[in-house]
Amino acid sequence: MVTVVGAGFAGVEAAWACASRGVPVRLVEMRPQKTTPAHTSPWFAELVCSNSLKSKAPTSPAGLLKIEMEGLGSVVIQTAREHEVPGGEALCVDRNAFGEALTKKVSSHPLIQTVQEEWSPSDEGPLIIATGPLSTDPVAQWLARLTGRERLYFYDAVSPTVEASSIDTTIAFGASRYGKGADDYLNCPFDREEYFAFVRELVKAERVPLHAFEAGGVREGGGAAPVEDFIEKVKYFSGCMPIEVIAERGERSLAFGNFKPVGLTDPRSGRRPFAALQLRPENRERTLYSLVACQNRLRFGEQKRVFRMVPGLQNAEFVRYGVIHRNTYLDAPRCLDPWLRLTARPEIQVAGQLTGVEGYVESAAMGIWAGIAAAWNLQGKTAPLPPRSTAFGSLLAHLSDNTEREFAPMNVNWGLLPEPDPRQRDKSQRKAAKLDAARLGFEEWFRALESAPVSAS
Ligand SMILES: Cc1cc2nc3c(=O)[nH]c(=O)nc-3n(C[C@H](O)[C@H](O)[C@H](O)COP(=O)(O)OP(=O)(O)OC[C@H]3O[C@@H](n4cnc5c(N)ncnc54)[C@H](O)[C@@H]3O)c2cc1C
Repeated sequence: MVTVVGAGFAGVEAAWACASRGVPVRLVEMRPQKTTPAHTSPWFAELVCSNSLKSKAPTSPAGLLKIEMEGLGSVVIQTAREHEVPGGEALCVDRNAFGEALTKKVSSHPLIQTVQEEWSPSDEGPLIIATGPLSTDPVAQWLARLTGRERLYFYDAVSPTVEASSIDTTIAFGASRYGKGADDYLNCPFDREEYFAFVRELVKAERVPLHAFEAGGVREGGGAAPVEDFIEKVKYFSGCMPIEVIAERGERSLAFGNFKPVGLTDPRSGRRPFAALQLRPENRERTLYSLVACQNRLRFGEQKRVFRMVPGLQNAEFVRYGVIHRNTYLDAPRCLDPWLRLTARPEIQVAGQLTGVEGYVESAAMGIWAGIAAAWNLQGKTAPLPPRSTAFGSLLAHLSDNTEREFAPMNVNWGLLPEPDPRQRDKSQRKAAKLDAARLGFEEWFRALESAPVSAS
């Protein structure tokens, strides 16, 4: 028997994956008795915001992930397709019908016993913790104790990430400050005019409104607590402040802070630039770069518009936008193994957004993988890992990549899928080659999983 805590996107998939392999499950969910600040319904896997499960096009990374999930028996994607509403290329659902149907399906599985209560940390293993970005305090504190306080994050303060191939390297140059260290960073040099034009647009760009619970609770008489409270909390937990707030404090504050150009020489001019935005590799293969110290709360369209004003980023393809929001997740590369087990306590697995993926579908995918791994584990076997070329393998590669960086949650995207060998210069051929490799990898993985089917009791 496996206990799965949390019947969100990851929890239902983990329970379903175990039960489908003959493993009995106890699925503990606290709602509706107790709820999180974002959930409002009694249903499992509630879509707390958008009703979109992103692209269903098989030629997109999100579509590829769905195909792999369906191959592994995903209950979320199957139910979503049954309750789809028109949404163009995106798989959008009728959120109530989806939630109700999924809850019934999962609860009526003969091997899944659902328990409606708040789970309090205990050592009854084997356990899969899938309590999500708004895990209750006792669970978060318990995880912090098991992994080390500095390995559990309470807020995302994420800078945008772009595809390496979309950076103009005739402008952005590789260098570390004062020539110390390898040329790990790419530097986007601003001249005076470019800098002030950027700052002007940055401070007036439209921002995402704050959720009341992020702001630290609702004030007496209604309304969210002031944004300053939120900023103080983010600073406290992650040492970060939104870049637009820093820019607001003085038109040169970025040139003296986040974008200070000291120790850098632009090879085109042979001089120090007026300011420089640094780009740091986001993965071992250097297919992704993040914009250093550009955490922000601008609307996504505004981020694209404003950050494309940065010299060298005029054609940047954004794979993730900056966010600052409440989110509980682990520093996966430093405390999880590829089977999503805590390295400190291998009988405990983590699934969903807690692992450091981002999004409904990615969280569900990490639930499936945790469930499969648990089922194998119960038979004393180790589940074969997905090949690196697959969407599952790419997400796991993100979770285990211990490159020096601020680990931040990631959705599935082109940059995570490995570059084809030999390298393709043409963008559409490159994408096609990535998809082909993923399909072959998935077939091979699927055969390996099926060749030694598990069934435990
Ligand atoms: C406000 C907000 C908006 C978001 N919007 C989107 C979006 O639009 N699109 C998108 O793709 N992603 C979005 N996300 C990101 C994220 O992918 C989703 O939150 C996703 O639901 C995560 O899946 P999960 O299974 O890890 O957690 P959840 O789906 O949150 O599930 C966790 C479950 O655990 C339960 N639980 C928690 N603690 C306990 C406990 N102690 N005992 C028992 N049960 C417990 C909760 O009630 C919940 O049902 C958003 C996140 C937040 C916080």
